[in-house]
Formats: sequence, structure tokens, C-alpha cells
Amino acid sequence: MEQLAINGGTPVRDTKLYYGHQYIDEADVKAVSEVLVSDFLTCGPKITELEEKLCKLTGAKYAVACSNGTSALHIACQAAGLTTGDELITTPITFAASANCALYCGATPVFADINSETYNIDPASVAEKITEKTKAIVAVDFTGQAVELNPLLKIAHEHHAVLIEDGAHSIGTAYDGKMVGSVADMTTFSFHPVKTVTGGEGGAVLTNSKELYDRLVLFRSHGITRDEQFMEHDSHGPWYYEQVALGMNYRMTDIQAALICSQLDKLEIFQKRRKEIVARYNEAFSEIPEITVQKEIPESDTTRHLYILRIKPKLLTIDRKQFFEAMGAENICCNVHYIPVYWHPYYEHLGYQKGICPKAEKLYTEMMSLPLYYALSDQDVEDVIHAVTKIVENSRK
Ligand SMILES: *Cc1c(COP(=O)(O)O)cnc(C)c1O
Repeated sequence: MEQLAINGGTPVRDTKLYYGHQYIDEADVKAVSEVLVSDFLTCGPKITELEEKLCKLTGAKYAVACSNGTSALHIACQAAGLTTGDELITTPITFAASANCALYCGATPVFADINSETYNIDPASVAEKITEKTKAIVAVDFTGQAVELNPLLKIAHEHHAVLIEDGAHSIGTAYDGKMVGSVADMTTFSFHPVKTVTGGEGGAVLTNSKELYDRLVLFRSHGITRDEQFMEHDSHGPWYYEQVALGMNYRMTDIQAALICSQLDKLEIFQKRRKEIVARYNEAFSEIPEITVQKEIPESDTTRHLYILRIKPKLLTIDRKQFFEAMGAENICCNVHYIPVYWHPYYEHLGYQKGICPKAEKLYTEMMSLPLYYALSDQDVEDVIHAVTKIVENSRK
């Protein structure tokens, strides 16, 4: 019944707010409908259009659209040549896919700790964990803030490893004046509905390397090529193709591509609104001593996907779970991103133990994700701030 005491009286809102929601308009509906009555439902012109749009947006030379952010990470690892005996370094504060992609290739995920202030992977910890077995680093732009790309590129290349940036959160973000997608060896995007731009499902890999691009295209579709330069035998005729590697079917449909293209036309307004909301939250929460605001590195011009509320449990009579539940009682449904990957039973059974990344584990026990999406009204944002303020005031030590 402590919860009642914390909340006290009527909830801040009478309708529920969730942490994320897609925004679909008439233009999106029209774009999808047009594809449905066209000649191509997959492998058609919308895929090319999307890939060109992504290159234009990011400045990357090549883009490969695929079925989702997870398949994007998988083909990126395959293109990097990741295989049995190799290691892949990533952060524990991410969706499991950032580490699973190593396991798909028979390689071993190694977890580096985070920077306690930015919550992104700490290049110093990567430098400690890197070995001659490391073939790739998957650096996640957690919440949308770019990782420290320059130091990470330096460490990766000194060790002949490939830097894959998991940009599932960071479409629209720039690092040091360059758009995410054009800096790392490969960058992956996700177009899941909770992300800034959606296709229902969808993903993409961006790269400046022709060699990596050719491999990405191959692994996206069964390892099959119609390009004679990659064939081992002479062509039998115009129908001829060869399977030269073991790929998957990770293709995207034109239906998804049309939706993503239409959504990308709104990226600027999405960015603007997300930045406004983040600025308002930061302003309000930086005045509350019981709350820590995520630090931004000056190099990152961030389009934020997630807003993290981090509490200081030592200054409060309640812990994160109670805070989370109290927010729910105010009709503000938060979420937690993420449970450290190696805490999941599957990873436990592989032999990973608690304590590998203490800063990440501490962050996990203190954070929750607040509502952040384009369609939030100013009143919604004020309601969230009101709820947080009220709960802090009622649980101050
Ligand atoms: C969403 C997400 C993914 C996976 O993307 P899907 O499109 O859902 O497969 C990978 N990494 C991170 C950090 C994500 O947030």
C-alpha cells in the first residue's frame, strides 16, 4: 500500500501514456496503397528508392535494405567475416540482438562496460577487452546519442577489427558534423514501430566500402549472385545464377520500403519534436537533485529515440521498481531499456556471470524510459514532468 502513499490522491492523468508510439499519416497510407496495386511487392523500385534516400540522408556510399534491424546486424557480421572462434565486443545495455548477431555466426560476444554518464560503451573498456580474436565491435548509439566513434574506430582498426555501429536508435543523429551511417565501417538501422522511423518491420546496413556492400547484398538473399564477376563457373544463359555463400532470405518488401520512404519525408519534423521534448525534460529534471540527466558528448547532435529517467535511490525512500509502479499509478506507462544482455538465462547458461560490467548493472537498477514520441502534446509532456516531480517529492528522504 506504499504505492498509494507515494502517489497520494488522484492520478496526474486519467488516460494512459506509453513510452513510444508510431506516427502514421495519410501520405504513409497512400504510399503503401500505391505499392499494393503496383507490379512489385518485393525486390522492386521502392527498395532502390529507399536505399538511395538512406545514402542521401546519411552521406554513406551504399545502403542495403533488409527485413529488420536484427538481420541487418547478422549480415553486417557475415560481411565482416565473423566466424567460429572470433570475438565481438558490445555493450550489455542494449537489445539482445546486438550480441546475438555474434552467436549467429558461431562467434563469442564479449561485453565492455559503459560510461556512467553517457550510458554508451566506454572506449577505454573496449581497449581493455580487445584481443587478437576480436573481429568486430558492435557499438550501440544508446537512446540515439552517437557513441564515441573516433576513438572506437581507432581502437578497432589498430586491431584489424570492423566497427559496426548499431544505429537502431540513432537515425538522424550526427557525430562531429557527419551523419550516423557515414562514419563507422558499417551502420545498421531498425524500422520497428517503436523506433523514430518505421516500416512495420525493416532494417538497413550502410557502408562506404564496395567490398562490404557486395557481401551484404549476397548474404541478404541466400548467398545467390547474378553478377558474373562473383561466379565460379561460366554462365549457362540469361536465367543463370549461382549460390556462392550461405545467405538467408532477409529481403524487405516494397510495401515496407514505401512506408519507410514516406516516413523519412517526416524525419525533420520528427527530429524537431523529439528535440523539443528532450530539452523540456532536461530542463525540468536538471532541477531535481534526486534525478540524474544523461550526459551528451559535444560531438553528438542527437535525435533521441529514448528518454532515460535515472533516479538516485540513495536519496529516495523508494527503489526503481516502486518508482516505475508509482508512474504507472499516475497512468504513465514507462519501460526499462535494457536488462543487461548477459543477465538473460540464455547467456547465463553460456557461462556469463553477473558483475562483468558493474557500471552497466548499476545503471540498469536505476533507470526507466519515459514517454518520447512525435505525437506527444505539450500537456502530455507536462503531465510526465508533474508525475515525476510528485513522486520524488513524496519519497524524498
Ligand atoms: C530494435 C533494436 C534492434 C533490433 O531491431 P529489429 O528491427 O527489432 O530487429 C537492435 N539493436 C537495438 C539497439 C535495438 O533497439
